[in-house]
This record gives sequence, structure tokens and C-alpha cells, in this order.
Amino acid sequence: MKKKFYLETYGCQMNVHDSEKASFALSAAGYEPTSDPVDADLILLNTCMVREKAARKVYARIGEIKNRSLRNIEKDSLPIFGVMGCVAQAEADRLFERSRDIKLVLGTQAIARLPKLMEQLEGGFPRAIDVRLSKEAEFFELDCNVRQTKHIAYITITEGCNKFCSFCIVPFTRGRERSRPADRIVAEATGLGRIGYQEVQLLGQNVNSYGLSGRYHGNLDSLIDEIDERDNGEITFARLLERVATESGVPRIKFTTSYPRDFDEKIVNVIDDHQNLCEWIHLPAQSGSDRVLRAMRRGYSRNDYTEKIAAIKRARKDFAITGDMIVGFPGETEEDFSETMSLIVEVEYDGLYIFKYSPRPRTPAAAYPDSIPEEVKIDRFLRLQELQDHVQKSRYSRYLGRSVEVLVEGKSLRSASDLSGHTRCHKVVNFPGSEDIIGKVVDVKITDAKQHSLYGTLIEE
Ligand code: SF4
Repeated sequence: MKKKFYLETYGCQMNVHDSEKASFALSAAGYEPTSDPVDADLILLNTCMVREKAARKVYARIGEIKNRSLRNIEKDSLPIFGVMGCVAQAEADRLFERSRDIKLVLGTQAIARLPKLMEQLEGGFPRAIDVRLSKEAEFFELDCNVRQTKHIAYITITEGCNKFCSFCIVPFTRGRERSRPADRIVAEATGLGRIGYQEVQLLGQNVNSYGLSGRYHGNLDSLIDEIDERDNGEITFARLLERVATESGVPRIKFTTSYPRDFDEKIVNVIDDHQNLCEWIHLPAQSGSDRVLRAMRRGYSRNDYTEKIAAIKRARKDFAITGDMIVGFPGETEEDFSETMSLIVEVEYDGLYIFKYSPRPRTPAAAYPDSIPEEVKIDRFLRLQELQDHVQKSRYSRYLGRSVEVLVEGKSLRSASDLSGHTRCHKVVNFPGSEDIIGKVVDVKITDAKQHSLYGTLIEE
């Protein structure tokens, strides 16, 4: 009988995609997935450190699974608990010290070695760990057929980050930035287009620096090819987008996450010039105050940021802009905060993730005095959210009466008679319809604009 694994994923699309890679590696090693922890030989938690107290939540979740799902299982027959993702990388063997249940720790660059680690455990090793980070790390190549979603596929283009923003743990948990060779990215997208994927999303911590700072370190030949490409001015993110757009045949192409300093007008122009490049940019500002941006070591000013926004707004396509903001960063004054508020009004975000600052271990900001009391952070969070809700309402209302293109992804979670999908500008749209159009791109006329979604009726062909 095949061994089974149960996998829970927390965090962003990069983690979802890493879970696909881990599932693929385990399947190749003879495991099959299960949705019930009771059936599992391996329970793997793919973790994220964007939210605070991430490690503590891992221990709590393991306790919960044991107490709820596995309460009737003999101690000797308990499955192996494993942790992967950012918590695994940051906590490493401390996870073993703090939880006797954890037997496997899989760092962010170790997914390809997961079957080897399982072999060690099956061979009698009490624990297995791999948290090596390397500039030379090879990219995990995923077979096109093993995605979890049938209509949207994620493609890694960069991994890691060299920016070292003072609050962020990513450079420590994901390592230095590396760019995957353009030919492989284009080949993967083309393969996905060929088997019917309607949308691909190109992923990286900072997609805009593709090819700029993180050269591929696989072998000498590919390095020489990369340098030649770069000398021809070819290996920029804008050029990569152009190649994926023209060569892959995929109807919709999106990407995330953009970083303001490396974002440029060429990217906007390429999107304007290619119908299958979607008009959605996630461009996190993190603060509207120059003083706070300096303390965050973001490497751009508010003015630099708003110039990039102006370039997006000058485009021929009607772009949606989303972003991230942190409130309560150490030293943030009421004046700094009001600059963040005014930035929201100036940019008019279509969506915004707002975070209350909390320190992450090893980051420079963790050593700053955390001077903002929790109640002030909560107050700023709520005020910012209220303002964003207001802005968002007007952004969503613009779509009333318009026809939008929707990729139908499945049934709506709210209503059994409705379908749900995303527009090209990444807004959720619900509408009544029959399941046989799931996976298709359809036109929907918008009849209602809610806070976080649109509602409409299908325009029959
Ligand atoms: S650019 Fe993004 S991922 Fe990189 S350090 Fe800054 S916040 Fe973190």
C-alpha cells in the first residue's frame, strides 16, 4: 500500500507553489496525498512568517491535529510531523528542541531533497533536517501536470531577495536572490499553455529585479549564456514578460510581487503592448512617510514611488494597483502615519494588505526600540482600513455596468448557484452560471459592487 502525506499550506502564492513542488517530490517517491490527517504517514506544515508568532502557531497546530484528528491513534503509530517553509528555515533544529513530535525540518531550498530525508527517517534516523542555503541552489523543476489548480498555474522566476529591508526576514529564510533561466520559464509557460492553462502567474519575492542582481549559478555554460543575454540587453523583467507573452500562448499572464525601486515604465509599456499581459500590479509601498521608508531601508522615497504609480496610470490599459502597508513601525509618528493615509488617497489602491508591525528575529528593525504601543498600532490599523474601504468602494463602483473578462475558477463559496473567478485586474467576480463553464474565460456584466468583490450576470455568446 502506498504511503500517504497530508499537507497544509500557509501564506502567499510562493508557498502554495512550494507545496506543489513538495507534493510532486513526494509523489515521485511513491507517496500519495490525503486530505485526512488520520490516513497520513507524513503530516507536513508549509509555514509562513508574515504573520507574527509563526513558530508558536506551528506548535499549536500540531497539538490541535494530535488532539482532534489523531486522538484515537496509538502513540507508536503517530505519523511523522514535518515543517517546511520560512519557519523551518528560521527555526531549524530549535523546532526539534521545542516539539518532540517534529521529526522533519525542510528548509526553503531543500524541497528536491525531501524524498532523501524521508528515506533517512524510514531507515531509522530519529530526525531529518536540511536547511542549507546556497547561492548555487538549483531551481526545482516541476512537471506541468501536477498542479493543484487546474486553470491557474504558478511559475517561479526568482527566489530569495537581496534587498534586506530592515523589517523583513525573507533574505534570511529564502537566501540570496537567484533568477531562473528565461528559456526554462518560457518553456514551462508554453507547456502549461499547451495543456490548457488559461492563466499563469510569474512568482518571485521581487520579480522586477529578474536578471539584474541574481544571476543563475547552475553551471558555466548557462552562466555564459546568461551573461550574453544580459549583454544583449535581453534579460530584464520587461524582456522576460515580452517573451512569455509572445512565445507561451497562455491567454492571461500575471505576476507578483513587484518592488518599487526596480519597477520601471518599460514594464508598463510591455503590458500595454501585449493583450495577454494582465493589467494588475501589486506594488507594496509599506509607508507613505520618507522618514519611515528610510528606517525601513526601502531604498526609495515617497516621490519615487508615486512617480512609478503615475507611470502606471498613464498606461493605455486601465490598471488595478494593490499594495501592502505596515503601521506602527518603530518610531512612526502621527505625522508619518498621516502621510501613509494621504498616500492611500493619492494612489487609490484597488486592494491593500495592512499589517501591524511586529519584529522578526535577526532583522535590523528587531533591534530598534519598538516604541509604538499596541493600542496605537490597532488604532492606526483601523483608521487605515476604514480609509482604504472607502477608497476601495469607489474603485469597485467604477465597474458597475461594465463588461469584464472573468476566468471561471469554480463554484462560489457563498452561494451554491453562483460561480466565481477573477478578472484580468485580479478582482473576484461572482455570478450565476452552470458548472460546465468552469475553466473558461467568459464576459460578465457587473451589476453590483461589494467591498471585496463584484457581482454580475454572464453575457451569453
Ligand atoms: S524587497 Fe520584499 S522580500 Fe525583499 S527584503 Fe524587502 S520586503 Fe523582504
